Amino acid sequence: MTPKHHPSDAMLVAYGAGSLGEALSLAVAAHLALCPVCRRAVADIDALGGVLLDELPPRPLEDDALARTLARIDAAPDRPAHGHNHGHTDGHATCGGPWPAPLAPYVGPAAETRWQRLAPGVRRISLLPRSRHGGTAQLLRIAPGTTLPHHGHGSLELTLVLSGSFADEFGRYAPGDIAEADAATRHQPIADTDQDCVCLIATDAPLRFTSLVSRLFQPLFGM
Ligand SMILES: [Zn+2]
Repeated sequence: MTPKHHPSDAMLVAYGAGSLGEALSLAVAAHLALCPVCRRAVADIDALGGVLLDELPPRPLEDDALARTLARIDAAPDRPAHGHNHGHTDGHATCGGPWPAPLAPYVGPAAETRWQRLAPGVRRISLLPRSRHGGTAQLLRIAPGTTLPHHGHGSLELTLVLSGSFADEFGRYAPGDIAEADAATRHQPIADTDQDCVCLIATDAPLRFTSLVSRLFQPLFGM
């Protein structure tokens, strides 16, 4: 089923530009694995980036440009064919188990043994601790009927539902849906069905978020 709640356009553009940190990229990539609508949108963004490159004024090549380029290709270490390094997927949602493909390597094969009790009705697996790249990623498993405390957010936060569902003041979120919260968002989620709600929660550090727009447009407009 196609998700109903998607990342914002700004988030998809930042993802397509490779400007997001690892944690937020992971959440967007996992959503893309479940959402054909956003996969098309990111493909369009990639194509637009190619058009912008094509429209740069041509510069004459030097006589030995081809030979030097071939030499650099020969000298380069082997890499995967896909140039991006931020978790693009080819649309296979669940290879390797119940997790979306981009998430599976972070969770590992023994997820059931990794859940740690965080509060009554809430368990957690930390996927990316805060020290790495300024963001965090964790899985929460919330028992049916559990209400989380009313809370705000110190930074940008993406919540991707993987199973079960939750509801808050802004709507109801089912598997594949992504909720985007920032410092202005306050809400009180509740796991609202009769099964555990498992979700991926990714945050970025506040400084990264405040500079996101300028970093995003800097290469386009020379800011
Ligand atoms: Zn989507």
